Amino acid sequence: MKSHARVVVIGGGVVGCSILYHLTKFGWTDVVLLERSELTSGSTWHAAGGMHTINGDPNVAKLQKYTVELYKEIEEYSGQDIGLHMTSGMMLAATKERFDWMKSILAKGRYMGLEAELLTPKEAHDLMPLLDPDQFVGAVFDPVEGHLDPYGTTHAYAKSAKKNGAEIYLHTKVEDLVQREDGSWRVITNQGEIIAEHVVNAAGLWAREVGRMVGLELPVLAMEHMYLITEDMPEVIEFNQTRGKELMHCVDFDGEIYLRQERNGMLMGTYEKACRPWSPVTTPWDFGHELLAEDIDRISPELEVGFRHFPAFNRAGIKKVINGPFTFSPDGNPLVGPVRGLRNFWSACAVMAGFSQGGGVGLALANWMIDGDPGFDVFAMDVARYGDFATLAYTNAKVRENYSRRFSIRYPNEELPAARPLLTTPIYDRLKAAGAVFGASYGLETPLWFAPAGVEDHFSWRRSTDFDTVGDEARAVRAAVGLMETSGFAKYEIKGAGAEAWLDGMLACRIPAVGRMSLAPMLKDDGKLIGDFTLAKLGEQDFLLIGSGIAEDYHMRWFEAHLPENGSVSIRPLKLELVGLSIAGPKARDVLAALTHLDVGDKAFAFMDIRRMNLGMAPAIVGRVSYTGDVGYEIWMKPEYQRYLFDLILEKGAAFGIRLFGLRALNALRVEKSFGSWSREFRPLYGPLEAGLGRFVALGKPADFIGKAAAMREKAEGGQLRLRTFLLETRDADVIGDEPIYFDGAVRGWVTSGGYAHASGVSVALGYVPKEIADEEAGWAIELLGEILPARLQPYPLFDANGERMRG
Ligand SMILES: Cc1cc2nc3c(=O)[nH]c(=O)nc-3n(C[C@H](O)[C@H](O)[C@H](O)COP(=O)(O)OP(=O)(O)OC[C@H]3O[C@@H](n4cnc5c(N)ncnc54)[C@H](O)[C@@H]3O)c2cc1C
Repeated sequence: MKSHARVVVIGGGVVGCSILYHLTKFGWTDVVLLERSELTSGSTWHAAGGMHTINGDPNVAKLQKYTVELYKEIEEYSGQDIGLHMTSGMMLAATKERFDWMKSILAKGRYMGLEAELLTPKEAHDLMPLLDPDQFVGAVFDPVEGHLDPYGTTHAYAKSAKKNGAEIYLHTKVEDLVQREDGSWRVITNQGEIIAEHVVNAAGLWAREVGRMVGLELPVLAMEHMYLITEDMPEVIEFNQTRGKELMHCVDFDGEIYLRQERNGMLMGTYEKACRPWSPVTTPWDFGHELLAEDIDRISPELEVGFRHFPAFNRAGIKKVINGPFTFSPDGNPLVGPVRGLRNFWSACAVMAGFSQGGGVGLALANWMIDGDPGFDVFAMDVARYGDFATLAYTNAKVRENYSRRFSIRYPNEELPAARPLLTTPIYDRLKAAGAVFGASYGLETPLWFAPAGVEDHFSWRRSTDFDTVGDEARAVRAAVGLMETSGFAKYEIKGAGAEAWLDGMLACRIPAVGRMSLAPMLKDDGKLIGDFTLAKLGEQDFLLIGSGIAEDYHMRWFEAHLPENGSVSIRPLKLELVGLSIAGPKARDVLAALTHLDVGDKAFAFMDIRRMNLGMAPAIVGRVSYTGDVGYEIWMKPEYQRYLFDLILEKGAAFGIRLFGLRALNALRVEKSFGSWSREFRPLYGPLEAGLGRFVALGKPADFIGKAAAMREKAEGGQLRLRTFLLETRDADVIGDEPIYFDGAVRGWVTSGGYAHASGVSVALGYVPKEIADEEAGWAIELLGEILPARLQPYPLFDANGERMRG
């Protein structure tokens, strides 16, 4: 065994082998893979080997497309047969609601060039005669689907990597990992030790145990999963003979089953409601090439529906039932990327669809290790999307929920119940008593809207039971004043003699004066957005940075990677040590004036000012800014003061007509101002000019901030895209995000978010289009739930276009 390597990949499943291949393909050839047994000895060997491109998240779908397209390359390069069967496939809907959902997936795929199409039940039956057309209302045909041999595929990656110079050591179990002073790792195995510059955890079923070697509790859990294989079926043989091809893959969402041809019979698997975690606390090291006991009773409700939908199965004998474990993260997407707080330690685990995603995971991770950037927008599978709230028990609850809902519809207004409530603020009970309907964001319960007694969310693709109330909340803000909780934002305290200079190099904006705030885009080296914050200077060496709550670990990883080593700067996420309330609307200033003896008039307390002040008896930090686009104030306080301040604001605000509002009304208000939000309009895909944030990028400031050269290039060349606002004439639904935008009949862009702007009484969509056509007045349309609706470009904010109300 080598004594040193640039990279040690732990785990010889399909994911580890893909990473090894990609590293070598991009030039890192001093790389080693360690496998405790034989290749494929984890979940890989008993996989059904199915793969497809369609995914609810377009960024994940792109990586799946890449994975499927890669197979020919590795088969040819390695000379290893991977048993590729590109059969094509269909997703079946048995209800209208389901079909609506499929149409939205299809529409998302449209702007990425996925060539799926809608089928009637009869057309579906013609293509797949095993199904009973009377059981379905429609289907989506996907030409890019199939299956392969898991063993052959893993070996094809491995052989390709070896051909490029990688080494693979079998029967070599990593037993411990110890970091050395220079950041490299002692990789201690049962066959000796290797020093590695980087370590990749691709340990699949044992990823959690490998994480624990370095003090991590990764949010990953294995679940038992069953599929059955039938004896030969005459219907299958006849189809093969008459049509000269295999039967295609099917996912029957309402039956919660998937099926495909296996030799002369069929394979049917399910994500059963009565699901069961496997080894919930510790994975045994002696687990190898064995299967788990079959438990057909557990999957019989799903099989019953499956057999009804595909009647030929009733006549078939069952040859065998496979039950094997494989791993999931709480939301079912992989956990990929550098792990915050650890140098040179990379995660590539919880890949539940290794044959659809393994190639994309390998590509992204190899890019990230070599270039410092994954090269795509991989937030949906970034290990940093979970913070310390994702404990073992949280993961267990969420993974079980996710597994059992694998084929369920997730409506855009649907909040899932498992592992809740977990994090709450001191006013949680008060908000609840006021009718708050909560969503959980980064573990924290956050009010979405305030429902009248007896009304609750009805989950739907279309406008729902909250529509009128959310409208009332939004209109109350525009007419008088609203109060909302803002504790869900991430808040970072930055202090130290070097703080200002460091922030000047990290953020693209100018550093504000003491007592002032700035909008602060943060760029990567390639000039794309990696953050969008509000920066407040509270003292010469004391800053408060406010940003997206869901990106707290993601941003902390970036900050920590760029901190100076001399200790002159400290940064710390304040989490719930600082909680927030916000008041907004034309009467907000009156409410604030009623809380303090200080002059909060427009001159004394101007737009973007921030002050420490006492409100009633409570010390607070008050900033004059509002995401509603109205005059407003963000009020930050220690949690022990939040209940007091909440009560006081409501009491003093009563005379001005104050009303509680939630995130849904906030969305209605911010789209009316064409304000973008992190993870929708602002993502690492877009440059600041493209995203309409160009004016906050201080290209003229002396500091050489990260991404400056690229931002200058973007300004000179104009970038590719533009963020635009569109108005839609819709009857009963609004965009959610990812709908295609058409120009002159062709798909040219995509929606990032939108909603009904209640105060203006119009449906709004924000989205990106190519810059060449971005200012065309006519010719626009947006696809919503299968209908192509005319859209109108809205060149300036619908509300308060000149910002007079916000600044005045
Ligand atoms: C019944 C079933 C059906 C499935 N069907 C499909 C399907 O149709 N399509 C699809 O895409 N996916 C399917 N999957 C899921 C698929 O199997 C996984 O996505 C995939 O195997 C994950 O691969 P991996 O490399 O991450 O993990 P694993 O395959 O678990 O590989 C991890 C490897 O790491 C090694 N290892 C662990 N710890 C150490 C250590 N300390 N030192 C050295 N080596 C170590 C293990 O021995 C193992 O070989 C199915 C899974 C099951 C169980």
